[in-house]
Formats: sequence, structure tokens, C-alpha cells
Amino acid sequence: MLGGDHPVVVQSMTNTDTVDDFGTAMQVAQLARAGSELVRITVNTREAAAAVPRIRERLIAMGLDVPLIGDFHFNGHKLLTEVPECVEALAKLRINPGNVGKGAKRDEQFAQLIEIACKYDKPVRIGVNWGSLDQSLLARVMDANAKRAQPKNATEIMREAMVASALESADKAVELGLPADHIVLSCKVSGVQDLIAVYRDLAQRCDYALHLGLTEAGMGSKGIVASTAALSVLLQEGIGDTVRISLTPEPNGDRTKEVIVGQEILQTMGLRAFTPLVAACPGCGRTTSTYFQELAQDIQTYVRERMPQWKVDRIGVENMSLAVMGCVVNGPGESKHANIGISLPGTGEEPVAPVYVDGERTVTLRGDNISGEFRQIIDDYVARKYPARL
Ligand code: SF4
Repeated sequence: MLGGDHPVVVQSMTNTDTVDDFGTAMQVAQLARAGSELVRITVNTREAAAAVPRIRERLIAMGLDVPLIGDFHFNGHKLLTEVPECVEALAKLRINPGNVGKGAKRDEQFAQLIEIACKYDKPVRIGVNWGSLDQSLLARVMDANAKRAQPKNATEIMREAMVASALESADKAVELGLPADHIVLSCKVSGVQDLIAVYRDLAQRCDYALHLGLTEAGMGSKGIVASTAALSVLLQEGIGDTVRISLTPEPNGDRTKEVIVGQEILQTMGLRAFTPLVAACPGCGRTTSTYFQELAQDIQTYVRERMPQWKVDRIGVENMSLAVMGCVVNGPGESKHANIGISLPGTGEEPVAPVYVDGERTVTLRGDNISGEFRQIIDDYVARKYPARL
């Protein structure tokens, strides 16, 4: 469920050729297992539309019921009419009002898409993108602006046109019979301030569910920082029902990064909990080895890998907090605030690692297998502390 009081949902998108139903199903599975609650796939050709039911079947065979969203541009009305099994296999349709059709065909093809959504009872995301803004609407907004006593600048006009495109399309879809609670809106831009301004305006002017995402966020830390900066401002104001982090993966990089970043934004803001997060100190001159960094990484990877099973077996593990600290200066204090914390020896400190469980010092680890013993402590804690699902 999306919108209203439902929790903000994390979604992602594949970058495989949808015609390759095996490769696409495998990537959808990877994204779903990483925690993506919806996965969008491109549906750009008849062959891609025909592959969608096969992708669905492959996912079912893997025991995955993650909802699929079909992304349609230009020929969506045609594909959905000619391949009805594609609509049936999808949970939602995403259409871009700027790419539905040109001139007189635009309204006709938009109506056709909405009628299909109504017929099959599928929600629709009306996704405006500043790179493909409806040019006739933009021209109309610019003409109206030129007649103003104090015309708005180009940035303001772009923002106004995007919001108008989303709202007018949504209202038209409602007129055509699509229930308002089957509509999700998005207005994606690549500038942080533009995104914040556009979504504040949208949120003020409508009650439709909103999908948040900074488009073309970029690679690595730039993409993560820009997405986080934009989305956290909006989420803090209660704006947004679903998020997608549009990170450009490194060549052959891991597509699931966008899911993890989306989850971490929501979790660090205290809006949702997905997986135990490890608090770790940055290290300083008191730690001359990389051991505590390796341990922090080991433990974060371990809990992320264990979480899918814990989620099935145990209630509430996602709220567990862990701390890995580099020395005794802040280590014990931070460790005591976590459910389980470990404080490693700093340079010149006694080579022992005290472990705190629920604020109490329990054992002191030493030797070559601190990581293994700490993981065992985590496993025992989960088994003891979080009730089994019946
Ligand atoms: S906990 Fe110790 S090692 Fe970590 S940053 Fe603080 S003083 Fe440095």
C-alpha cells in the first residue's frame, strides 16, 4: 500500500534488457532481496512487453512476489493493448505525460492508457521529468508568464510547468475514471533546490501519493549526497510516499546500492527500520591498525546478509543497534547505548575488547577470533531477545 499513513516505500529500477527475461528476473530478485519493495522495469518494445509475464513467472518460481512496475514511453498505449498479459503481470504502470504522444494524439493515447489501467484495476504513476517536459504545456505556461506584470524567471517557469503537467494529467486521469487513490505523482529534476521547491508545491496543491527521487543523481558519493540532501528535507516535512535513489552504478557495479541508500535514508531519519545499523567511530590517531574498520564492515555485512532470514524468523530484529568503537575514549559509552557494542583496543591499550549487551559489560574478547565471537554474540542475542514468528 502506498500513500496516506502507510510507511514510505523503497523502490528501484532494473538496467537489464527486459527482453532478456532471465537476466531481468535475476536482477529484480537481487533488488528485492536487498529490500526493494517495488521494482520498475522498462517496457519499450513488443518483445519486452511479451517478456513481462515470463519475468513474473520466474519470480514466482523463486518465491518472490515483489510488485513490478512497467515503465512506458511513446508506445505504451499500443503495447498494453496488444499484449494484455503484460498488464496483468504488472502491479503498476508508469507513464510520462511528456512522452505519451504528440499533438492531437497525445490526449487520445493518454486516455487509452488510463482506460487500460481502469479496466485492469492498476494504479498509475504519472511521472513528469524535466528532461522530457510536455512542450506544448511548457509553451502555454511561458505565454501566460509573458503576459504577467512581473514575469517569473526561467527556473520558476520550469518548476511551474512541471507541477502543472503532473496535476493536469492526474485530474484528467480522474475524469477518465481512474480513482484518485490509484494515482501516484512524481516530478523529477536533477537539482536539489528545484526538487524541494517542486515537491513542496505539489504537496500543497494535491492529495495524490508522491514518489520522490532526484533524477540523474550521479555516481558514488555525489549521487548519494545529492539524493539524501533533497529527499531528507522533503521527508522531514512529511512529503513523499515512495522513494527511488537514481544512482549511476560503477561499470559492473552493484545495482542494489540504490536500495541500500534508500533504506538508510529512511532508517537514519527514524522513519522506518530495515536492518540493524552499525554505529562506528571514524578512528583517529589512537587507532593505528585498520582492525576496527574491518570489524565494523564485517559486522554490517554480516547483519545485512542475515537479515532476510531474521525477518522471516524473528520479530523486530531490524531495530537492533550495534556499535563498533576504536578505543576506550568513547568506546564504552557508545557501546552502552547500543543493544550490543564492542570497544576495540586503541594503540598502547591493553589488547582486550570489552563487549556491552543492553548497557552491561558482559564479556571481554581477546585473541584472533574477535569477529567470529562477536557474530556469535549477535546471533545469541537475536535468538534470545526477538520473539520467533509463529
Ligand atoms: S573512539 Fe577512540 S579511536 Fe574512535 S575516534 Fe574516538 S578517540 Fe578515536
